[in-house]
Amino acid sequence: MGLIARSGYLILREWKMAGSWLMEIMLGKRWRGLRECGGMPSYRVNVLRNPPRRRDICSGLTGRLEVSIVAESYLHIGEGAQKSLVEIDEEGLKGLKGAPSLREVRRYVRFIAGVVPFNKVSGKPAIPGGTVKGNIRTRLELSFRSKNGVVRSCLLIASRPLDRPNPPRTSGWRHQRIWSHAIGEDRRACNFIAERKVCLLCDLFGSAGLSSLINFSDFLLTDGANRMEIVDLPYGMRLEAAKPGSVFTGIIEFRNLALEELGLLFLGMGLRGGRISDQVLMGRLKYHNVQTLGGKVFGRIRYRLNELALSRLSTESMKLDGWEIRPGGSLADEGRLDVLVKDLVDRSLKKFEGEIMLVDEVRVIDQLPRA
Ligand SMILES: [Zn+2]
Repeated sequence: MGLIARSGYLILREWKMAGSWLMEIMLGKRWRGLRECGGMPSYRVNVLRNPPRRRDICSGLTGRLEVSIVAESYLHIGEGAQKSLVEIDEEGLKGLKGAPSLREVRRYVRFIAGVVPFNKVSGKPAIPGGTVKGNIRTRLELSFRSKNGVVRSCLLIASRPLDRPNPPRTSGWRHQRIWSHAIGEDRRACNFIAERKVCLLCDLFGSAGLSSLINFSDFLLTDGANRMEIVDLPYGMRLEAAKPGSVFTGIIEFRNLALEELGLLFLGMGLRGGRISDQVLMGRLKYHNVQTLGGKVFGRIRYRLNELALSRLSTESMKLDGWEIRPGGSLADEGRLDVLVKDLVDRSLKKFEGEIMLVDEVRVIDQLPRA
């Protein structure tokens, strides 16, 4: 018992030291020292795990969000393999009369070799629901930090423990610089099948053997034609990317949530003061700053909440300043959505006070040294 208490004390003491160390890394002060001494240990914290809530009954908030992802830079979502693309000038082809020769047809068909295509659903550019979910869940996993040695979330998808910081110019180092406060912690993933207990985020977003309470549709390009561009980048990289200004829209369904958990989902989208989020990062090349990409910026988006609807099955309603969304009702008014988002986010920050560290990931990237 004495030994356990003693080692617990040691872990706590080391953790305190690590905390200030990590803060300095965040501030960029210790980077050189770390590289020279060749790494740092990861710190074990206890992940708070409980049996997940029941999935077979309706209890709490159930409904859906219509959400748009607005690209404010180039955006690339794709598998990574290069392919040859065929670009067809449909209007030109329709204008051909009679039985055109192959040479005439070829004038309106362009082959582009060696391009990494944008993800498609039924031939249309789309961000897969799994990508959106991963983007939001990762942000939440990495925003939770330990309080008194206990943390609300495992790192299921965010990262393995950080044994050794990646030096600049290797893949992953920007990710580590943004999120170093969390990935220095040893927060092994929950194992629901073996333990029947999970952390809060595994309860909300699912885990192996446990269904998700928050589900994401694919997000389809909604604002029409000519949004895709073949972008040639340094080192011969060619990407089919969505141009700045492109809008993708999809549905997020939720069930059996508490108000502050819906607020947590909003925080994961980068929503803080209203229905339009902070600028956040998504997709390929998001960690590169503009100098490394020949003047092009990639991966900066905003989430925008267009509508919130509660299912008739919802056992809770939402009440705010003289108005209410009842089960079966919906809200699309922009001003009221702003108020609603802020209220739920504030509830969440209050409920998880001292446990959430909001990081302005775009600002951190812009302040990193060039690579
Ligand atoms: Zn977990």
